[in-house]
Amino acid sequence: MLSNDMIKKMKDYAKVNNVPIMTDGGIRYLLKYIKKNNVKNILEVGTAIGYSAIMMCGVADDIKVTTIERDEKRYLEAIKNIKKAGFEDRIHLIYNDALTVRLEDEYDLIFIDAAKAQNRKFFENFESNLVENGTIITDNMNFHGLVNQDIDVSLSRNLRQLVRKIREYRSFLQENDKYETEFLDIGDGMAVSVKK
Ligand code: SAH
Ligand code: MG
Repeated sequence: MLSNDMIKKMKDYAKVNNVPIMTDGGIRYLLKYIKKNNVKNILEVGTAIGYSAIMMCGVADDIKVTTIERDEKRYLEAIKNIKKAGFEDRIHLIYNDALTVRLEDEYDLIFIDAAKAQNRKFFENFESNLVENGTIITDNMNFHGLVNQDIDVSLSRNLRQLVRKIREYRSFLQENDKYETEFLDIGDGMAVSVKK
């Protein structure tokens, strides 16, 4: 059963093991969005240990989540957590690289929270699985505030490259006429793209 104690344990595990799960502000917004818009079928890219998938499932009894994770250790931890929460029947966990996964089903909401440099590829890989008027939400658009700063020369080359990629993705969303995108300063920054 999903309990406050179980939620706390997942958060503690994430902290100790450096697993970047959603912030409290981010998850609060996401759950509210799901409730308000009566979202039932969700695709998540980036399960980690199952925290956000389980929280989303907890919003209502008829919500289903398909979620993809490529890291074995996190995938195994997610399986454990999903069982503990009693959501084995409602969360479909796929152990694979999301860039190679092709899906048939349609989803009301696609939540992208995986490798930040690949956001556009995830978006383009799964947008055909979005229902009409569906929503794609992307997490970590601010990347700890780095995206809106001057690129600091003291940042590592990889980090600078990552910030550049997130900025490119932001422009891609802004210029994409098929979606109306709103950028929110919630959690670590979220982009909410509603299909027109
Ligand atoms: N949504 C989770 C946190 C996900 S952290 C939560 O809030 O609880 C991001 C995860 O995406 C990491 O575990 C990482 O292994 C995974 N990931 C990154 N790139 C991926 C890819 N191409 N395919 C599948 N998983 C990926
Ligand atoms: Mg995130």
